[in-house]
Amino acid sequence: MERLSTEVAIVGGGIVGCSTALYLRQRGVPVVLLEKSATGAAASGVNFGGIRRNGRALNELPLAARALAVWRRMPALLGSDCEYAVTGHLKLARNDADMAELEAHARAQAAYDIEVEMISRNALRARYPWLGEAAIGAAWCASDGQANPRLVGPAFARAALAAGAEIREGTPVEHATRTSEGFEIGCAGGLVVTARKLVNAAGAWGGRIAAMFGETVPIEPITPQMIVTEPYPYFIEPALGIVGGDLYLRQIPRGNFIFGSGFGDATLDTPHAYVLPRETIKALAIAVKFVPRIAEASVVRVWSGFEGVTSDHSPVLCPSRTAPGLVHAFGFSGYGFALSPGTGEVVAELVSEGATSTPIEPFDIARFGAAPPA
Ligand SMILES: Cc1cc2nc3c(=O)[nH]c(=O)nc-3n(C[C@H](O)[C@H](O)[C@H](O)COP(=O)(O)OP(=O)(O)OC[C@H]3O[C@@H](n4cnc5c(N)ncnc54)[C@H](O)[C@@H]3O)c2cc1C
Repeated sequence: MERLSTEVAIVGGGIVGCSTALYLRQRGVPVVLLEKSATGAAASGVNFGGIRRNGRALNELPLAARALAVWRRMPALLGSDCEYAVTGHLKLARNDADMAELEAHARAQAAYDIEVEMISRNALRARYPWLGEAAIGAAWCASDGQANPRLVGPAFARAALAAGAEIREGTPVEHATRTSEGFEIGCAGGLVVTARKLVNAAGAWGGRIAAMFGETVPIEPITPQMIVTEPYPYFIEPALGIVGGDLYLRQIPRGNFIFGSGFGDATLDTPHAYVLPRETIKALAIAVKFVPRIAEASVVRVWSGFEGVTSDHSPVLCPSRTAPGLVHAFGFSGYGFALSPGTGEVVAELVSEGATSTPIEPFDIARFGAAPPA
């Protein structure tokens, strides 16, 4: 049996866990990160790559603004921009009800300094002649963007390592308990880590870590499906979405179309998030309705990944209510890539100062009726 002792143990090597490790190291805090597979290999590495504030739940906007500031300084922070680009985001309406929803949301978020332009059917055709008839209008947010998810998690992991974090991949946490000194964390393979503080950044599996401390979170896994095509002459700069979320699509400057629609079928114990071919076929049909030229590109790969969705579609980002020294940051419900580099900053503040300057009250685990503060 191997034993390790540290100040802070982090369960989960997605962007939330790896960025937390980096920020804690920048504060001089000793950190051991435990990842059951490889850093950045779960949702953080397989997602669509959309970085958007327009259309988010209003209570997430302060955290989204904080994350945006990190996206903007990625080269200085990580030595790579991770292909982050401010391309704008075009949210498409299929009918008048969608358009009314986009308008209402644009008005509601104006207080958060997010500029959105409503585009009518004729203006949309003139600006984006490649769009199909299925889009009857749109909301345009020029400050939104996209990045390459495959690069971001590993870049944070490398930076955390270089800053002195210890990262153990292939190390599933099997149990964790609160002790008089802090926490004892037992991993598969016999590693036991003792830490004064613990971060639960276990993504879709975060509910299981919370349950080890008697905290119950209504969270279910989803497995969104993705498609990438061969390169095609580049013509779509903005990221696209449609009201209702049935399609999200972007083209990268190398030419590939990357898009997502539909869900696979998996449980948290399935080794992979498998792709259902019938969902891929449906996704292709939807994509062609909105961007007809997609029909000319060959699909080269499909994939899926696990994400945890809470019952109110908001993350759990807060100190534990039962175990002092434990901080939860999981359950980003399909929208956490955009938030993740700012989430790490918030978690590092919670761990080292016990408070954060970013409003996170709506994400308290107590909303699910968890036990009162210990
Ligand atoms: C297909 C797809 C498309 C998406 N598209 C977007 C998008 O365009 N924009 C957006 O903002 N968000 C998107 N999301 C959501 C986003 O990817 C996630 O919210 C975000 O990456 C969550 O990051 P994380 O670090 O919390 O979790 P993860 O990246 O899932 O990391 C959690 C880590 O914890 C590890 N772990 C779990 N249990 C244990 C254990 N017991 N012991 C050790 N390690 C453990 C896992 O192996 C995993 O690596 C998408 C998600 C998916 C799946």
